[in-house]
Amino acid sequence: HIGPLQTDVSHAEFKAGVVLFFRDLTSARRLEAMRADFVANASHELRTPLASVLGFIETIQGPARDDLKARERFLEIMKGQAERMKRLIDDLLSLSRIEMRAHLSPTQTVDLASIVAQMVETLSPLARERNVVIEARFPDRPAVVLGDRDELLRVAENLIENAVKYGESGGKVDVEVAHAGPSHGEAGPHIVFDVRDYGPGIAPEHLPRLTERFYRADAAQSRDKGGTGLGLAIVKHIVNRHRGHFDIASELGQGARFTVTLPEAGASR
Ligand code: ADP
Repeated sequence: HIGPLQTDVSHAEFKAGVVLFFRDLTSARRLEAMRADFVANASHELRTPLASVLGFIETIQGPARDDLKARERFLEIMKGQAERMKRLIDDLLSLSRIEMRAHLSPTQTVDLASIVAQMVETLSPLARERNVVIEARFPDRPAVVLGDRDELLRVAENLIENAVKYGESGGKVDVEVAHAGPSHGEAGPHIVFDVRDYGPGIAPEHLPRLTERFYRADAAQSRDKGGTGLGLAIVKHIVNRHRGHFDIASELGQGARFTVTLPEAGASR
């Protein structure tokens, strides 16, 4: 309805309303564009290994039909591609499960130090394989937060695995859980979980985008290492649901540092 302005709405307020309305539209459009982008990316990530599998099936049925050795080799490659698709689908499902619960705050009390210790143990074979030493430090009293055990295990897994994968081969990874005071402008005690490697680090232009789905600093390297490009997006979503903060700091050639800060549970504030 376009008519004379009502007397109780000033011109300025009316204009503000119009501006807000336009801004809402742009953010809705941006969301829609992001969703479309996500579907395009996910489809592409799945299509590539699938095309490779189909190609090898045709080769096995055709030219390589009687070449047992080649067939063995192709089957091995197909298995690798199928595993890649499975990892991707598992990560997509995790992400959508976490998103569905985004509005629910976790209510269980858990000891973050024991969760991180468990993951350091789980990842020690991978570290040995890469000749990386994980040095872990834990506080002398429990580091209690309100959290979902499986989700926090996932956070620890993604960050420590990345440090082992992308850090320096033959180098070390520092993992620490510690008590801290007020943080990010929030009063009260906090628990800080920190993972640090001394590898090539991350160029500054990539830093702000690393938690976007499918964003990789080096796509070929990530795929080579079996990455889906979803790990840090999953970490960010889990940390947000836990009302925490996720910070990444890095300089090229100086390694990278990933820090999760959560409010300590049961502490008076
Ligand atoms: P991916 O499955 O590719 O590892 P992530 O979301 O876990 O996906 O990480 C996104 C990108 O961030 C990686 O592809 C890599 O380029 C970069 N990255 C993550 N961790 C590190 C690290 N410790 N050192 C250097 N680069 C890293």
